[in-house]
Order: sequence, then structure tokens, then C-alpha cells
Amino acid sequence: MNQFIRTQLIKWYLEDHRQLPWRETDDPYKIWVSEVMLQQTQVKTVVPYYIKFLYEFPNLQSLAEANLQTVLKVWEGMGYYARARNLHQAAKTVLNEYAGKIPDNIKLFRKLPGVGEYIAAAVLSIAFHQPYYVVDGNVKRVLARLFKIDAPVNKTASFKIFKDFADKLIDTSNPGIFNQAIMELGAIVCKPKNPECNQCPVHSACKAHQNGKTAQYPKRLSAKKIPEYYIAVGIVHKNNKVLITRRKSDGLLGGLWEFPGGKVMEGEPANQACIREIKEEANLQVEINYYLTRIKHAYTHFKIIMDVFDCNYISGRVRLKGPVDHAWVTIQKIDDYPFPKANHKFIPLLKKSERNCLELI
Ligand code: SF4
Repeated sequence: MNQFIRTQLIKWYLEDHRQLPWRETDDPYKIWVSEVMLQQTQVKTVVPYYIKFLYEFPNLQSLAEANLQTVLKVWEGMGYYARARNLHQAAKTVLNEYAGKIPDNIKLFRKLPGVGEYIAAAVLSIAFHQPYYVVDGNVKRVLARLFKIDAPVNKTASFKIFKDFADKLIDTSNPGIFNQAIMELGAIVCKPKNPECNQCPVHSACKAHQNGKTAQYPKRLSAKKIPEYYIAVGIVHKNNKVLITRRKSDGLLGGLWEFPGGKVMEGEPANQACIREIKEEANLQVEINYYLTRIKHAYTHFKIIMDVFDCNYISGRVRLKGPVDHAWVTIQKIDDYPFPKANHKFIPLLKKSERNCLELI
């Protein structure tokens, strides 16, 4: 049965797969970049970023020699910025320690920053034709339905079970094509809702389909409620410039710029939280000029509700606690800096605000 599934999947993929830019190359660097981007972002979002990224950094050396801020600016808006920081750092390591040649040994490759099991398997199988299987969300869904696997896909302990199935199924003579085929099947045919089983090359071998139970697979543990945080942020004006601060390089949104602010404490009015946070974070005394807007943004593990205030600088010299750098910039220069997506939700409003329109005149 496994041989039938292998043959059918590969035949189907070779006859009819989506034309995507990273499928037109055998350059390990370009394949690596695509897999890093695809790990947490959808294909249609990745395509323009991938093209832009390779335009800016066409080879490993150009990426390794680039400034991190430039890399983050190109990545800006795609989220999960640790991917960009790690890829940049890994490119430097490959240039310095491996003379610019990406190691095709899994132990060496996995030592590079940001290279986990998925990235290593994807790059080594697709670029170097080595028999490592990938087990991402799409693959787990296909396997769960094909073999009626009852282990919940979102439970850490289930990973080994899916790995064992994938291990037995992979085509060792064509691992890269096989991996791409099963991921493609999960992406466009064996979709989370309403899989198109009549279009599926392996429907005759699929246990969930045969038993009319595709909707029951994959199994999942019920998701925990996502916490919600209130944030107050200030656009601090001084001499026709506004204050921006840079987050430390590691952690969530590491290395990106933002406007100063922070969490609103329980029972605290947002405007007071804004003044307090700016004092604590940047050592500046400010006053609220007016309320600009409220935006909402969802991250993977939490949501934020952010109140944004236009503020006047009153006194103090910037002394940072938390951020690692700051700059006073004109609104026209804001676009030179990489910002998190949540900030981009109000930056256009900021550019249109009365005060900044006057400054632009
Ligand atoms: Fe998925 Fe349906 Fe194919 Fe089974 S037959 S693998 S459920 S698309």
C-alpha cells in the first residue's frame, strides 16, 4: 500500500503542481530561504516577499554581508522576525565557517541558528536529495486521514507517531519530490475543511475517506483561550520629530522599532498608562495632546488592544529601560525603519493627522 501511495503522489505532483518561484531552482540557498518563509506563512503571502528578498539578497554572501536592519526591513510585515534574524546569522556562519557552502550534512546544518527538524529535512531532501521526511501541519493532516491516526495533531507527544508513519512512507529514491508532493496534497486537495477527495490521487488508499470520516480527522486537543492585553502607546513629538525605540534583538519582534508604551495595569486609565510607561521606558515626561486611535492585533499566543495617544514632550533626556536604542525621526522618515505589523495599522493615520500634515507643509 505504501508503494502505491508513493507512486501515485509523485506522479500526481509531477503532472500538476503549482508553479512557484522556489520550485524553479536547485540552489540550496534559495530553497532554504523559501522554506524558512513557508514555515509560518502562507504561500500566497510568501511569494512577493520571496521575490523581493532574493532581489535584495540574491546569494548567501549578500545576505551575510547585509546589515540586520536592512534584512528586517525587507522582512517587515511577514511576522515571526526571529526567522529573519536567524537566517541572517546562519548565513554569516556559513560564509565564515563553511566558505559560503551550505553544509549538506544534517548534523552540521542543524547547528545553524533557526535550523530545526523541519527546515533541515526540507532543505536536505529538496536541495541535496537526502532521505529526510518533513512533518509539518499539512503532512500531519494527510497522514492522519490516510491512516486514520487518532493521536491529536496539536499534542507534542504525537509528533513521534506521525514521524514513524512518515518514515515508513517516504520515497527514499525521490525524497525531495515526495516531500513536496505530500505537502502540496495537504495544501490544495486534502484541505482542513472539505477535502477534495474526488481529486485526490490516493483516495483509494485513504482510510478516513473509505470510512466516510474525513471530517473527524485529524483529531485535535481543544485550544486554550488566548489571553488579551491592553497596551498604551505614545507618539511623542519634539521639534517636529517623534520618538521611536528599538526592541532588543532577541524575543518577540526582536530588533524592530516601535513607539514607546506598554501594558495598561488593571484599573489604570490608558492615558495615564501611556504617560507612566514613557517615563519608565524612556525617562521622558510627556503630556497627552489627544487620543489618536485604538487598534487590535492578534499574535499566535495572545491578542492586544492598543490605545494610541499623540503626546507633547515636556522634559527629560532619553534614558532607556527595556529598548536598546532610540531615534528622533520626522514622520517622513518613518518608513526607513522596520516596524511590527500592529504599528503599521496606525502609522497611515499618523501621517494624515493634523499635526503631521502641518509639519509636512
Ligand atoms: Fe485527504 Fe480525501 Fe485524499 Fe484522504 S482521500 S488523503 S481525506 S483528500
